[in-house]
Formats: sequence, structure tokens, C-alpha cells
Amino acid sequence: MDAFIANEKLSAYTFTLEEMKREKAHVLSQAEEALLAQVGNLSQAPQTIFSMLNNADLKFPRIKDEHGNEVELTHGSYIQFLENPNREVRERAFKAVYETYAKQKNTIAAALNANVTKNMFYANVRKYPSVMEMSLYGDNIPTDVYTNLVDTIHESLPLLHRYMDLRKKLLGVDQLHMYDLFAPLVDEYKMDITYEEAKQTVKDGLKPLGKDYADALQTGYDNRWIDIYENENKRSGAYAWGAYGTHPYVLLNHKDNLNSMFTLAHEMGHALHSHYSDTTLPYRDAQYTIFLAEVASTTNEALLMDYLLNKSTDPKEKLYLLTYYADQFRTTVFRQTMFAEFEKIIHERAEQGDALTPQLLSEIYYDLNVKYHGEGMAVDKEIEMEWARIPHFYNSFYVYKYATGFSAATSFSKQILEEGQPAVDRYLGFLKSGGSDYSINILKKAGVDMSTPQPIREAMSVFKELIEQMEQLTK
Ligand SMILES: [Zn+2]
Repeated sequence: MDAFIANEKLSAYTFTLEEMKREKAHVLSQAEEALLAQVGNLSQAPQTIFSMLNNADLKFPRIKDEHGNEVELTHGSYIQFLENPNREVRERAFKAVYETYAKQKNTIAAALNANVTKNMFYANVRKYPSVMEMSLYGDNIPTDVYTNLVDTIHESLPLLHRYMDLRKKLLGVDQLHMYDLFAPLVDEYKMDITYEEAKQTVKDGLKPLGKDYADALQTGYDNRWIDIYENENKRSGAYAWGAYGTHPYVLLNHKDNLNSMFTLAHEMGHALHSHYSDTTLPYRDAQYTIFLAEVASTTNEALLMDYLLNKSTDPKEKLYLLTYYADQFRTTVFRQTMFAEFEKIIHERAEQGDALTPQLLSEIYYDLNVKYHGEGMAVDKEIEMEWARIPHFYNSFYVYKYATGFSAATSFSKQILEEGQPAVDRYLGFLKSGGSDYSINILKKAGVDMSTPQPIREAMSVFKELIEQMEQLTK
């Protein structure tokens, strides 16, 4: 292997070869690998069992809506109920959901426990020091990046507490409850944005990325990269996909609102990341990691948000935008870091030999909620069961990427807006790097060093500005 790596004729393959060599430390003998391959299906069981219970067998009770009508409570309608301006409806939905999970707590704890045990089995046989080390090894992310995220977010929790106070004030309630977190803060403010307007506004918002990026974006708009509207038998949601050698394809289900405009900016961020990497690099280096993917999409959202906030003259619109953005920080950075910390703790406890009983899981989860949301909030007892409804806990040590990705993106957008061209050049360099190096190195070259607290602190400074602006507007 070393001879291949040193061979100049193979220099185009150096990274690929080094990567093979790095992985070799955890590849076992042929007989052992054959055995492991046979337990592959078995290892899916915890996730399959949870998903069957959660998606098929679990039944929620019917609840009364704001008109007193009995209505169906489902996974999908739950979030809508939490966004209901009527507080009693929110509370009823919240309590009904967690009562339902509490009834299944032993079964779900057993499934989660089995998943952690599976992780420990693989970490052990593949000779990793811990489950966390194994989970981060694929992307070659140092565990410092993970612990650094958790520690730096801890420093910034007082900011989240300030946002919670503001939320309490805007909702006009004595105490903020867990079922008030998704309630709309600015009622009846709606932005109607057609697809044509959204395209233009996204283009205007991404102007700081320069002409080359704008041209590529226009090429996508003009050449039917995007499937725009809902249609019979079309799947929901939005994504960008494609194959090396073709242009990217984007699936949307566009509605004439703010959220859909951000979705357009987001998915075109993925599409242009692929476009730049695919047209710059050979096939073997073009595919980027998930760790990097969400950086390209979220940078676009941050730039668009900055543009909209600067353009807005209506205080009500401005407050609507600010709360939209602040909620993204809350759900993508704070909430996902809390999930990441929960995963870290339960794996450490299991690795120390503790049994992950439903009581222990609930205790850890509840304490984290108090820590993150602050003493000023009424952290309802029912929230201790939330661990039981998070599907991502069966895809261990994954959610931290949402928080790091969002932080890196906020940091990039800040640099682009403040520094201009040099930052744009570095950023385009990142978009053209695909997976030609380790994710951490690619970001570092572009000016965002995730092995330090800097990008997360930069993101938090943006969050702080939002809170200050909101405090000003609501004085
Ligand atoms: Zn995305």
C-alpha cells in the first residue's frame, strides 16, 4: 500500500489509497468478515422493531380541537397541533402524545437498548475504543469536534434562555411550557410568494456569491433541473439528486410561501455543490460527505435571510423573519446538540456497564431539557418520554451533523458578507472540492475550522444579534 501511495504515476489516486489504508485497521480476517456479514440483517432489528411500533402499531387517542370537535392525532398532525394558536389544543396534543409513548416505554427502551448494544458489539469486534469513535471514523471526524460542539453550545445556553424569555413575553403567558415552543409568535403574518418571485428573490439573495454562481443558478432555472409543483403520485418533501455526468435534479413541492422559498435556496445549494464538484473533479473524488452537504445548502439560506432582513421595512414582517430564523437556530443547533449529548451520555453509561432502563433514559432526557431550556421555563414532566419518539436515535451519532453544518454555514455566510471576494473564492473552492479530502480539511482550507470552537461561536454571535433585534422590536 505504501509503495502504491508513494508511486508518482498513481498520484491522482493518493487520497483514495490513503483512505483504503486508513480503513484497513478495522477490517477483520475473511472468516470474521463473513460472520459479521451474516449478522448484518440481525443488526437491523432494533431499528425495524422501533419503526414498526412507531409507524404502524402505535395509536394515539383522538383529541378535541379549538372548535370542540374530536380530531385524529397522528405523527403528522401533532406538529400542526403544536403550531396551533390555541394553547389548550397544544397542551392536549402534547399530553396525549407522551401518555401514548409512556404506555410503551418498556418496549421502546428495550429497542433503544438493543440498538446501543449492537453499536457496542460492532465497536468491540472492529477494535474501536468506543461507539462514538467508530461512528465518527467513516468521515474521519475527530471526537473533539463532537465534544467541542456540546461544550460550546453549553456556553451559549444563556442566549437560548433569553430567547425563551422573549417567547414567553410575545405569547403573553405567565409560564412558558414545552407545548409553547412551536406556537406562532407573530400571528397572522403570511408572506405570499409565487414561484417566479421566489426564483428572483433567491437569485438576488445569493448575489454575494458572485457572477459565476449566479450564472450557474440561472442555468439550473432555465434548463428544467427543477420539478416544481405537487402532482399526483409525486412524493412529498424536497431534495436534490443526480448522477455524475448529468446535471443535478431538484424535487420541490412548491407552495407560495416563505418556507418554500427557503427550500428552493436550500435545494439549489445542494444542486450547485454537486454541479461544481462534478464538473471540477474526476468521478472517484466528486461525491461529498453528508457532513459537508448541509453546509452548502444552509449557507444559501443564511445569505437569503440576511438579504430579506436588510430589505424589510415593515416591523411586523421583520419580526416574522427574525422569529423564523431564531427558531431555526433553536431546532437545528440547540435541539440537535441536545440530542447529540443524549446519545453521548447513553452510550457512555452503557459502555460503563449501566443498564439503560426506561427510568434512566427518562431521567437523563429530562435533565437535559431543564439544562437547555433554562430554569425560567416550565419543563413539563411529560417531556421525559420524548427520547422514545426520535427515529434518529437508531442512526447513532448522526444528528450532530445538523448542528455543525448549520454553524459552519452561518460562519461562511458571515465571512462572505463581511470580507467579500476573498471569502467567496474560498467558498467556491469548498464547493469544487467534493470528497477529494477529509471533510474537516476541506472546510479548514475554505476558512472554517470545525476543530476549534470558532465557527460555533460565530454562529452564536449571529443568534445573539437576532435576539437583540427582536428585543428591540418588541420593547
Ligand atoms: Zn439538505
